[in-house]
Amino acid sequence: MAEPVEPGNPAPRWMWPAYLAAGAALVVLYYLAPVTAGGFPLRVVLYCLVSASAAVAVCYGVVRNRPQPRLPWVMIAASQLVYALADAIFYISHYVFDVTAYPSLADPFYLAHYPLAVAGIVMLIRRRTPGHDLSGLLDAATLAVVAAMLSWLYVIGPQTRKGSPLLVELASLGYPVMDLALLTVALGLVLGSGARPRAFFPFIGWLAAIMTADTIYVLQQLNGTFQAGNFLDAIWLAGNLALGASALHPTMARLAEPSPVPDAPLSPVRIAGLSAAALIAPVVLVVQWAEGTVRDVPVVAGACAVLFGLTIARLAALVSDQRRLAITDALTGLHTRRFFEAQLPLEIARARRAGTTVAVLIADVDHFKTINDRHGHPAGDQVLVEIASRLRDAVRAGEVLARFGGEEFAVILPGATAATLPLIADRLRERVAGQPIELPGGRWASVTVSVGTSVFPTHDDNPDDLVSIADRALYAAKEAGRDRVVVGPTRAAAAPRVPSGVEYLQQAADEVDSRLSSHEHSRAVARWVRLLAVEAGLDADRVRTAELAGRLHDIGKIVVPREVLAKPGPLTPREWELMRAHPDHGSRMVSVVPGYSTVATVIRQHHERWDGGGYPDGLGGNDIRVESRLLAVCDSWAAMRSDRAYQRGLSEEQAVAEVIRGRGSQFCPDAVELFLSLHSRGLIGELRVVHPTGILPATP
Ligand code: GH3
Ligand code: MG
Ligand code: MG
Repeated sequence: MAEPVEPGNPAPRWMWPAYLAAGAALVVLYYLAPVTAGGFPLRVVLYCLVSASAAVAVCYGVVRNRPQPRLPWVMIAASQLVYALADAIFYISHYVFDVTAYPSLADPFYLAHYPLAVAGIVMLIRRRTPGHDLSGLLDAATLAVVAAMLSWLYVIGPQTRKGSPLLVELASLGYPVMDLALLTVALGLVLGSGARPRAFFPFIGWLAAIMTADTIYVLQQLNGTFQAGNFLDAIWLAGNLALGASALHPTMARLAEPSPVPDAPLSPVRIAGLSAAALIAPVVLVVQWAEGTVRDVPVVAGACAVLFGLTIARLAALVSDQRRLAITDALTGLHTRRFFEAQLPLEIARARRAGTTVAVLIADVDHFKTINDRHGHPAGDQVLVEIASRLRDAVRAGEVLARFGGEEFAVILPGATAATLPLIADRLRERVAGQPIELPGGRWASVTVSVGTSVFPTHDDNPDDLVSIADRALYAAKEAGRDRVVVGPTRAAAAPRVPSGVEYLQQAADEVDSRLSSHEHSRAVARWVRLLAVEAGLDADRVRTAELAGRLHDIGKIVVPREVLAKPGPLTPREWELMRAHPDHGSRMVSVVPGYSTVATVIRQHHERWDGGGYPDGLGGNDIRVESRLLAVCDSWAAMRSDRAYQRGLSEEQAVAEVIRGRGSQFCPDAVELFLSLHSRGLIGELRVVHPTGILPATP
């Protein structure tokens, strides 16, 4: 597991250019300075100062920029330390002790620094490309094969033919082989996916400089033109400085960040580069033939064969990428609607053969436009991605999940029946909308979804018709107030439409709830009182009235100042008076909506007590509307179970005890029985968190 990222205190911005400038000055000084000044080996010191400084810079960069994970950079730092050590040994033996034998004591150190660097870079690549980036890998392999062939033809082959002493041969072969390994990982870094912050470029510059200088060095060694202190030193030193600058750059830690694998990684530039590389092999053969020196034919033929294989593999990867793209939604990674529509007939046919059922479920995010408007389109995208991931966690193997439209998702559920579907669908709805979604900047968005479903063969046996039945059910769920599941065919007038004025009042209810607690209130009360009303055998109109009253029962508190609502201590008599007026205020607000007078009455009565001691009218017993009596129990339960400014929420057992204590005094005994029976069956869930960061701060 990666350690959590600690809040960084990255290296200051001026440091990397300052480091580069100081380093460049040292390099100039290196070429101007005499080899020794008064017996002091000035050049050695200057050279080693630069290569050691890069090791120090990487260590400092690791400490300040805190890359996560740290290990790749620790390996790179170690590699640079070994390299600086090799430099010190080489130049001291060369200039101080005048030993020019090859290989020298420095060569094992030089050679040892490569595996460390390669290992560090491989670790970086694995972090940068967590999934599979087959195309990038194949491209890197293609170029590496060409490089290996050229290296064999012009560097390694001539070495082996020279008949040098074993140690010389080993050292001279070691460098090109190590450089090939470094080249392969460098290509992987350049051609693969992953973030490209500023620090990426000097990092690549480091690798390019080391490999270039190494290659020229071996060639010069081969034809005997190498002289210590020639221009190659400038390239090596520049490479060292580039590594140091990369590690000091404040964006260095981001080098390990993945970036999405691009959908079309085969840009024209890449096609041209790969073709040119693959053509090098035949070109080499033609050149050798023209010169009359055809050599190493098996090597060139082998390289051609491998390149051919890689090209075919690349084509196959492209085809499979295209297929994946066609059935994968780019934003959420879910299947596309096209895939869904291709799968549904197959699933229906399978169910028909097996004599089983298949359900179609369509979920649409409620008021998604508001989320876009309030938080911006990118945040909206993030919400969609999170919803998709919650859905992915909620569906089981064998179920097909797709993004059906902008903010619509669809699921094929083999085996779900009209009887089991409401529960399954409701669980899914709850999983998606149960927790608020975190947005950048510490903001949160609460979402709900409406769900429509249909079942083969119960509702229809044609795929298109099943989808349109589910779609109409979804529409009915929206009409009935959203945040709910509707199963199967719906008559157009099955659920009365919620007038737009009521939607404003519902927003007022959410606002009041958010001032009182970090948990939902009226939404839960509406759910529970609906259940109670159904359980009590009330007719559909009353069930609906109870639910709406539950949702809107507290809106009268919108006129109570926030300080009073969130007051931790006891209220003054004046403040109590304000609070106790809320059933009256709320019922007046609702009564202006045409057709909502009964809902208004239920709201007015939700603080009446069974024993007549409630307010505002002091009604008692059956003079209180049944919906209000049910509502009173649900309201108290929700209030007792949530943390508020003036109280800690009660435990479930404590709340049950309180409800029982109020039976026949505060609450209607039948309402208490019904509630406890639902509770014992596990149908009264927990309150959902709406603002995980706590009660919203009062606006001044
Ligand atoms: P409701 O479904 O509850 O009736 O209201 P709504 O606001 O969700 O419905 P509507 O269909 O009017 O709006 C859907 C919005 O979803 C409109 C569009 O801007 C937004 N949307 C669609 N696709 C995307 C997307 O990929 N990213 C973002 N950020 N928004 C999207
Ligand atoms: Mg919507
Ligand atoms: Mg929609």
